Amino acid sequence: MQLQLDVLDAVRSVMGRSGAHLHAPFTDFEDREMVSQAVREGNVSAVGSYVSEFESQLSSLLGGSAVVATSAGTHALHLALITSGVQAGDEVIIPALSFVAPAAATSQMGAIPHFVDVEDETFGMNPESLRQHLLAVSTTREGRTFNRMTGRRLSAIIAVHIFGHPCRITELSTVAGEFGLTLIEDNAEGLGSTYKNQPLGTFGHISVLSFNGNKIVTTGGGGAIVSRDHELVDRARHLGSTAKLPTPFRFKHDEVGFNYRMPNLNAALGCSQLKKLSKFVDRKRNLFRQYKSAFASVKGVRIMSDPSSAKSNFWLQAMVLDPHFRDQRDSILEVLNGAAFQSRAAWDLLTEQKPYETSPRADIRCAQDLQPRIINLPSGVDAI
Ligand SMILES: *Cc1c(COP(=O)(O)O)cnc(C)c1O
Repeated sequence: MQLQLDVLDAVRSVMGRSGAHLHAPFTDFEDREMVSQAVREGNVSAVGSYVSEFESQLSSLLGGSAVVATSAGTHALHLALITSGVQAGDEVIIPALSFVAPAAATSQMGAIPHFVDVEDETFGMNPESLRQHLLAVSTTREGRTFNRMTGRRLSAIIAVHIFGHPCRITELSTVAGEFGLTLIEDNAEGLGSTYKNQPLGTFGHISVLSFNGNKIVTTGGGGAIVSRDHELVDRARHLGSTAKLPTPFRFKHDEVGFNYRMPNLNAALGCSQLKKLSKFVDRKRNLFRQYKSAFASVKGVRIMSDPSSAKSNFWLQAMVLDPHFRDQRDSILEVLNGAAFQSRAAWDLLTEQKPYETSPRADIRCAQDLQPRIINLPSGVDAI
């Protein structure tokens, strides 16, 4: 039990004695005022000025890219896949260690997730092993890449920044280019992080954000698509608003659309939350430093730090057990949660989830080795 107690002591020394949530949303007076204002104006749903205000604030944070806000990050991923030219029956490269959304959005449009390995240093996709895997399984015909084993076209890569830590996105972009694959950046967890001094969410052909209640900035629920390709974002906006043509007094739809718009009420909350983003990131980075020093003397664990060339927003703080302590994860979780410090394991690998048991996959030994050793510690910005 020594390790369990050492971990509990370290968490207590950072969080105080009375317990802490994993990640409660932080809202203040200004947030409440903004939402009330939207209610008073009567524009609670799809019409209203806060949606475009929120989109333009995001655009300025992300280098002037075009932005469309959506009703969820998963919906943004769905639209990103469709607008980037992925077809039903194609395969989409996804890391084995991720929240389920990229795989779910891929399956929802009739495409097939193809899982690849991650790396210890970033928790994200490993560009070198990805290249090796693609060289081994793919073949190119008329400028298109196919999986030789399944005969299906490989059309996109969804790179995920895990817990806010930048994956090696420029290296992944190079690999995507070599194989003619579209790079979709799942930046649901990484708003406010940078890689090589450039904000995450500006690397992919398309990037996706989430503003779910547990994310670094919340709109209650919501997401966004971000791209330098304005036409693509316009098309995503059209598809996400039932593909209705702008004809006055009439209802004409030119394709099968989706109702994926962000309501104005949610956008109002987003506008005031976004103003606090840099404060949230500062506090989370400060919390990381506190955990780092509290855990310095605990043998057998490390606190996840900034990967090289990266500045993480530390959305969720992660503790990694040394390999010989891998059996201790669940008992540590019991001790922490028992003492009201809400902590959890990393997502079970997507390759082991029921809908994806038979999906194509690379050798994912690093993900298999890493996943059982990760514990997310209380990470809320109000906790300090
Ligand atoms: C949260 C999240 C999403 C989107 O989730 P929604 O709840 O649909 O907004 C997508 N990908 C990752 C990696 C996430 O963490």
